[in-house]
Amino acid sequence: MYHSISEEKGNDAVISPALFAEQMAYLHSQGYNPVTLDQLYDYLTGQKGLPPKPVAITFDDGYRDTYEIALPILKRYGFKSTLFVLTADSERRLTWQELREMKAAGMEIASHSYTHRNLAGMTATAQADEITRSKELLDRNLNQDTRFFCYPTAASARRR
Ligand SMILES: [Zn+2]
Repeated sequence: MYHSISEEKGNDAVISPALFAEQMAYLHSQGYNPVTLDQLYDYLTGQKGLPPKPVAITFDDGYRDTYEIALPILKRYGFKSTLFVLTADSERRLTWQELREMKAAGMEIASHSYTHRNLAGMTATAQADEITRSKELLDRNLNQDTRFFCYPTAASARRR
């Protein structure tokens, strides 16, 4: 589970591009097979098998460095992954065109809510809006049926 991949120091949620590249090279050299959550879901519900040594690589929030740093490294190995992206215009750091390009390159795009607000303190109506609005935007802009949601907790909001 990755967040930002950059040189920011003193933030436990951030790792450097060099370390990320090293970790992907390790997975490749050890014969791991990155899978999407779609594949994992199909496996867990008994519909399909998984490749040997499966691993799920996921990214939260949707930072520009997921597109600029992580994606080229993942493409180098043909690695699949999952990105949980925020969908509000004010919170979205990647364009829909970039997200479509990432999806075409094997990155599954899923929901991380609309604005990353802590759902725990919200009314049921506001919670539903955060969740369904995000799914509708992803479905429409990426021409898909978005199936996965990563909960935006207060802890991860602090790490952003
Ligand atoms: Zn987050």
